[in-house]
Parts: sequence; structure tokens; C-alpha cells
Amino acid sequence: MNRNRVANRKRVLVTGGAGFLGSHLCERLLSDGAEVLCVDSFYSGTRDNIRHLLAHPHFEVLRHDVSEPLTVEIDEIYNLACPASPVHYQRDPVYTMKTSVLGALNMLGLAKRTGAKIFQASTSEVYGDPEVHPQVESYWGHVNPVGIRSCYDEGKRAAETLFFDYHRMHGVRIKVARIFNTYGPRMHPNDGRVVSNFVVQALRGEALTIYGDGSQTRSFCYVDDLIEGFVRLMASDDNVTGPVNLGNPDEFTIRELADLVTEISGSATTVCSLPLPSDDPTQRRPDIEKARALLGWQPQIALRDGLAKTIDYFRTLA
Ligand code: NAD
Ligand code: UDP
Ligand code: UDP
Repeated sequence: MNRNRVANRKRVLVTGGAGFLGSHLCERLLSDGAEVLCVDSFYSGTRDNIRHLLAHPHFEVLRHDVSEPLTVEIDEIYNLACPASPVHYQRDPVYTMKTSVLGALNMLGLAKRTGAKIFQASTSEVYGDPEVHPQVESYWGHVNPVGIRSCYDEGKRAAETLFFDYHRMHGVRIKVARIFNTYGPRMHPNDGRVVSNFVVQALRGEALTIYGDGSQTRSFCYVDDLIEGFVRLMASDDNVTGPVNLGNPDEFTIRELADLVTEISGSATTVCSLPLPSDDPTQRRPDIEKARALLGWQPQIALRDGLAKTIDYFRTLA
């Protein structure tokens, strides 16, 4: 880190900082006055996401794979490194599992040695194809251990286990967030997630690709709301370990999402049907009572408004 740093400026490590969520988090932490070290392997993130931060005097970037040990001096760690879209995490499932498990182990070892607080970007995927709806943190989930999504789901579950064991064994201060589908500017146009796919397709005048009959549901959170939740969770009392759901509780079918994107983009598009991938969860919606009570947090941005901002962003790429 920068040796000339102001004595009491907080030193924050963001792994996966060049990704979609990580780049927004780095930006927020810098504007809050922190010194930020962004560590990324550039597996699914890009330099373009952080290019506007490179000249900032308190921002540093290190190319590094978190499944290898890392020695830095740090006060807080946000562990976001992991490919997040099904297309990316299934491309090299062993890499995904190593990133989740060995990455968590290394970052926890780092937190133990430095005494840093550590935040884990866990996921609603730990609930699998949920039989409890909406999903509460006390639900243990319904996850296939040997399917095509397992590298991600089980990797994140194992990471949560490591977090709680480091907390119990070594007193590491942990903050585990279970993130539900989030969207916004800087999603990669080719990362295959539904919001970016639909927006890109609508702007190109192509048919929107609905997998299955489009009756499956998701609850979409705008990125700025989510980042506010991250920062509040990190700042919460040490006895708040999580897991805490962070997401928007407004639930939509994929078909409803397609209709909204079509309407807001003003594009004359059609939809087409493609096969539903295996183990695709049929419903998903967070119960956010815990986040409301512990963090005073709830999303502020409705899907319609967040989609309008996202569509504006994707128009600038065209
Ligand atoms: P993303 O793919 O845009 O970002 C992930 C970043 O991690 C990328 O920059 C990638 O290059 C980096 N990375 C991957 N493997 C790495 C490794 N081994 N070492 C170092 N860096 C590595 O995805 P995102 O949407 O920004 O997701 C960030 C985190 O949030 C992930 O951990 C993801 O599982 C979690 N999450 C995201 C969502 C969502 O809807 N966006 C939902 C649930 C959980
Ligand atoms: N580790 C790291 N940076 C550190 C301290 C530890 O990357 O500053 C790694 C370390 O290499 C090990 C993991 O974190 O792979 C767990 O470390 P810990 O000290 O908890 O366990 P041990 O090394 O005793 O197995
Ligand atoms: N989906 C879709 N068309 C697409 C991409 C995704 O219908 O072009 C569906 C997908 O099958 C899933 C939902 O949208 O039911 C959300 O998919 P995404 O990959 O965004 O996230 P996740 O499945 O991880 O929630």
C-alpha cells in the first residue's frame, strides 16, 4: 500500500474489485475516504471497470489470484473475487471452486494475521432451488451437490463454513452477506445474466431469449442499493456476523422482466424461447427483515427506475 498514506486513513482490500460489484464498491470506498487495494485476476472483470479510478491517489491495483496466498497490511477485507454469472462460473468449474474455497481460506488467514474485519460476498444460491419462500437466513437450502451449478453453490457454502469456523476458532470478525440478483451499469454485456442479456438484445433489436416458459421468478436489486448494504454491514457491531440477506424483495417473473425491458427501452422486440438450463431455481425472493432490523437497510430503487439507468448505460456502449 501507499507508504505516504494519512495515518488514520482506513486501508481496505477489495478482492474481485475489477468486477461489476467490486468496481462500484471501490468507487464508494474511495469517496468515503479509504485507501483501496483492488486485487483481481481479471478472469471475468476488466480494466475498463476501474479505469476511471486509476489516477486516484488512494487507489492501487494488483493482478493476483486469490487461491494463492497474499501478504499485505490491511484493516478491512471485502472478499468478492469469484465469477458470478452462470456462463462464467461454469466455463471452468474447478477454477470457480478453487476461487471460492481457497480464496476464502487465504483471505481468512490474512484477516487472522492482520486482525482485519472481513466481509464475504455470499449468495442466494446457497439456498439452491428453494422450498421455502421467501428465503430466510435460517433456511438451510436445497442444493444439488453434483450438478452444473454446484461449483458455485457448494463453493460459496464451503466458504461460509470457513468464515464461521475462523470466527469460532480464531475470533476473526466476519460479515457474511447473501446477495440476491443485482444489476446495473458495468454488468458485462456478454456475461450471460438475464438483465444484461435482455437489455443488450433489446437495444440491438434482437429477440429476448427467455429460458423455459419464463414463469421462474427473481428479485432484482439495483447496484447502488446493494453497495449501501455492504458498507452498512461492514460498519455494524462486531456481534453482527450474518449471514444477512441483501436484495430487493420485489419479485418478478422472467417474462415480466422481458416486458419491462421492452417497454422502457422503447425497442420493437419480440421474445424467443430457449431450453431451461438444468437446476435453474424456479423462484427466488429475499426476506430482508434481518437487514432492516440490524442495518436499517432496505432498497430504495424500484426495478423500473434501475432498468432505465441500466439501459442508459448500455446505450453509451453501443
Ligand atoms: P463479476 O464476475 O463481475 O466480478 C467478479 C470479479 O472477481 C471479477 O473481476 C473477476 O475477474 C474476479 N475474480 C474471479 N476469480 C478470481 C480469482 N481467483 N482471484 C482474483 N479475482 C478473481 O461478478 P459480480 O457480479 O461483480 O460478483 C461479485 C461477487 O458477488 C461474487 O463473489 C459473486 O459471487 C457475488 N454475488 C453477485 C451477485 C450478483 O447478482 N451480481 C449475486 C450474488 C453474489
Ligand atoms: N495466508 C495469506 N496471507 C496471510 C496469512 C495467511 O494468504 O497474511 C494464507 C496462508 O497461506 C494459508 C491460509 O491463509 O494458506 C490460512 O492461513 P492460516 O494461518 O489460518 O492457516 P495455516 O497457514 O496455519 O494453515
Ligand atoms: N434467463 C433467461 N434468459 C437469459 C438469461 C437468463 O431467461 O438470456 C433466466 C435464467 O434461466 C434464470 C433467470 O433468467 O431463470 C436469472 O438468470 P441469471 O443468469 O441472471 O441469474 P441466476 O440464474 O444466477 O439467478
